[in-house]
Amino acid sequence: MTAAPDGPQRTDARGARRSAGASAVLRAVLDEGPIARSTIARRTGQSAAAVTGHTAELLRRGLLRELPETEVRRAVGRPHVPVDLDTGRHVAGALHIAVHHATVALLDLRGNVLVQHEEPHDGLAAEELLARAAEILDDLLLGHAPDRAPLGLGVATGGWVDRESGTVVEHPLLDWRNVPVRDLLAGSTGLAVEVDGHARALVHAERLFGHAKARESVVQLFAGNVVDAAFATGGTVHHGPRSAAGAVAHLPVDDSAEPCRCGRTGCLEATVSEATLARKAAETGLLGQPDFPELLALAASGDSAAVRMFHDRARLIGQAAALLLDVLNPAVLVVVDRSVAQVPGCLPAIRDEVRERSRTCADPAETVVPTSFPGTELATAGGSVLLHGLYENPFGPLLTRFSHAS
Ligand SMILES: [Zn+2]
Repeated sequence: MTAAPDGPQRTDARGARRSAGASAVLRAVLDEGPIARSTIARRTGQSAAAVTGHTAELLRRGLLRELPETEVRRAVGRPHVPVDLDTGRHVAGALHIAVHHATVALLDLRGNVLVQHEEPHDGLAAEELLARAAEILDDLLLGHAPDRAPLGLGVATGGWVDRESGTVVEHPLLDWRNVPVRDLLAGSTGLAVEVDGHARALVHAERLFGHAKARESVVQLFAGNVVDAAFATGGTVHHGPRSAAGAVAHLPVDDSAEPCRCGRTGCLEATVSEATLARKAAETGLLGQPDFPELLALAASGDSAAVRMFHDRARLIGQAAALLLDVLNPAVLVVVDRSVAQVPGCLPAIRDEVRERSRTCADPAETVVPTSFPGTELATAGGSVLLHGLYENPFGPLLTRFSHAS
């Protein structure tokens, strides 16, 4: 008799089991670290031997560290040495591309933003902007993390992003079409690069580092100059063919005659975008010229006309939120919008609209929540594109590619 063949298929199945086990260990440490190996085994349902094996490999790769023994040494057997994430060894590079500026940042393994830099990019072509972002990332690594190894670079932006090919298929507000972002940045940085849509990226961030209920099911509604959405249930973020899911920009809203680039009027994005609001503020004489940050600051300081504009806009965002809640019925809907954090009354206005319109949402105050990352949502989006991949598969291509390059 000959031994059973151990072909590539069998090796793949074993590799997938091994990375699923390691992923569960790393997430248990993320949630509860410092934590003893025996507790990890209980939490993840794995054998003590399997947890010991995964932990040893994660320690070897510098993702975990052992803490000094704190518990009383047992009379028999191995001591209880807890393990925790090693946040001092690696950093995740992050890039978010908004319509008028790019955010470049570094995050640690817990998703904490260590440093972020905003760079205006009006007038730059895609290739120029990406080259500039690579230079800034280099500066941040040298200046803020000279002793840490970069895990790679995560990139998030609005519009239609195909994660599989690392391409921005279409981003009309940037005037980008089929830009091979991953390949361009991998070439200029020498790092592993992952690209995804920013709403999906923030879903990953909420599920890893944010709202506990997001792990059941979550809708992310992003309202900036780009307006889009993403949905996840169980462990899966929905992409759909070519990652086109979540395009709510042209959802019709009531009481809007705002012309849209699609040729119709009253589309969600055209009506509630930051550019539209700033333009309206200038038209009514509230501002000397259209400037969204200035309008936001005016509202945050309590100017009643500016506040009213944001409250009217919040009701429109609430219309979209109510529809998404009824179609997808998530455990939680996360609103990412700068006014929610800065202008009092915006989140209640969104919830009021949901209360009036939704047929399924019983408790908007519990279900409609602000982002867990106010002020760092863009950096967090970029970094989470990469960190999501790491937590899914800690022994995956990210670290392999990096260790080959170094
Ligand atoms: Zn439209």
